[in-house]
Amino acid sequence: MAGDGTIVLALEGQLRLDDQPALHHAVALARRTPGGRLLVLAGRPETQRLRGPHQRRLEAQALASLRTRLAAAKVPLLHAPQHATAAALASLQPDLQPTAVLACCESRLFADWPIPPERFPRVFADFRRGLERSPEAPLPLPGLAGLEPPQPMGAAAGGDSRSAFPFSGDEPSALARLQHFFFGTGGLRTYKATRNGLVGTEFSSKFSPFLAIGALSVRRIWQELLRYQELRGADEGSEWMKQELLWREFFLWSEQRHGAAFHAPGGIQNRPPEWIEDRERFARWTRGDSGHPLIDAQLNELRATGYLSNRGRQWVASHFVNELRLPWTWGARFFEWMLIDAHPAVNTGNWAYLAGVGSDPRSFGGSPRRFDLARQVGLYDPEQTHRRRWS
Ligand SMILES: Cc1cc2nc3c(=O)[nH]c(=O)nc-3n(C[C@H](O)[C@H](O)[C@H](O)COP(=O)(O)OP(=O)(O)OC[C@H]3O[C@@H](n4cnc5c(N)ncnc54)[C@H](O)[C@@H]3O)c2cc1C
Repeated sequence: MAGDGTIVLALEGQLRLDDQPALHHAVALARRTPGGRLLVLAGRPETQRLRGPHQRRLEAQALASLRTRLAAAKVPLLHAPQHATAAALASLQPDLQPTAVLACCESRLFADWPIPPERFPRVFADFRRGLERSPEAPLPLPGLAGLEPPQPMGAAAGGDSRSAFPFSGDEPSALARLQHFFFGTGGLRTYKATRNGLVGTEFSSKFSPFLAIGALSVRRIWQELLRYQELRGADEGSEWMKQELLWREFFLWSEQRHGAAFHAPGGIQNRPPEWIEDRERFARWTRGDSGHPLIDAQLNELRATGYLSNRGRQWVASHFVNELRLPWTWGARFFEWMLIDAHPAVNTGNWAYLAGVGSDPRSFGGSPRRFDLARQVGLYDPEQTHRRRWS
C-alpha cells in the first residue's frame, strides 16, 4: 500500500467517537497496515458553510474534549474546522503522505433510503407511513487502548446565564444530557406536554445543538429510547420523541432527494415567491426590532444565546413571512448563522414549511399557516416570563 502508513480519519463535522462506522474502519486498517498509525483530522465537509459564532463556541468545546481523549490513546487530532478537509490535507503535503483517508458521515437513523427520488414523499405523514424498517443500531466505541473515559466538561463557560442551552458541546456532555433527560428527571415522560415551552433547560431535550455538530449520534438516542420503553413502557412522551427524530430524518432525506429545489425560493412546490425585498426592514429585524414585542424577545434570545424554542422559531418565521412579507430565504440564512443548532436541511425544511413552499400539506394550493400571536402568548407565555426575560 502506498503512503507513509498514516490512516487519516476525516471527521467532516462529526465531533464524537461513539457510533462512528468510519472510525471502526480506520482503526482496523491502521492495525492491518505495516507501520500503520491513525490521525484524526477535524476539517469541514466541502459543501458545509462556515458556522456562526454560537455554534463555533460549541465546536471548540467538542474539539477540546476530543483532543484530550484521543491524546490518551496517542492519536493526534489536527484541528482545522474552518477549512474543508481536502484543503487541510493539501496544506499538510509533503510532510504527510496518507495511505488512506476515511471520511465520517452525518448521523442518521437510516444509512440509505430505498425509494427513488421521483417517488420520495412530499409530506411527513407519507414518509412515516413508508417506514417498514427499524432504525439501525449504533456502533460501540472501537478499542483505542489507553483512551480516557468520557468526562463531561460541566457547564459551558462564557455563555449567557439565561440560556436554555447552558451546556458544553463536548461528546461526554451530550451523552450525560441524554441520560439525564431520558432517565434522570422524567423529562421524556412529560415531553409531549412540555415541548412547546419557552424558558429553561427541561421543557425539551436540547439534543439539537449536539446533533448539529455531530457530538451525539441519533442512532444512540433511538437505542436509548427503546431501552427506556423496555424499562418503563411506551408512554406518550417517548412516542412523541420518536416522531420528532423522524422529522429530522425526513428533512435530511428530503434535502438529498429534492436537490436544489429544496433550498430554492419556490421550494419543493416550485411556487413563485410573493415577498417584498425590503433590506431596511430586514436589517431592523436582525437587530431585534421587528415591530412586535413578542418577536423582538425571541430575536433577542436568539442573538444572545443561539438557542430558541421550537415554538419561538415558528412564531418568528410565521411573522417574518406573513406580517413582514420578507423573503423567507433571508430569514433562513440569518437563522443558519445565529442558531447554535444550525443545520441547513432541518432549518430550510422548517422555514419552507412555514413559508408555504415546503412540505406542509395545508399549504398545497393555499396559503402558509399563520400564527395568531395574541392567542399564542395566552397559551404559552401567559405570565409573560419569556418576554420579561428577553425584552
Ligand atoms: C423556523 C425553524 C427553524 C429551525 N431550524 C433548525 C435547525 O437549524 N436545526 C435544528 O436542529 N432544528 C431546527 N428547527 C427544529 C426545532 O425547532 C429544533 O430541532 C428544536 O427546537 C431543538 O430543541 P430540542 O433539541 O430541545 O428539541 P426536542 O423537542 O427535544 O426534539 C428532539 C429532537 O427532534 C428533532 N426535532 C424536533 N423538532 C423538529 C423539527 N421541527 N424539525 C426537524 N427536527 C426536529 C431535533 O433533532 C431535536 O433535537 C427549526 C424549527 C423552525 C420552526
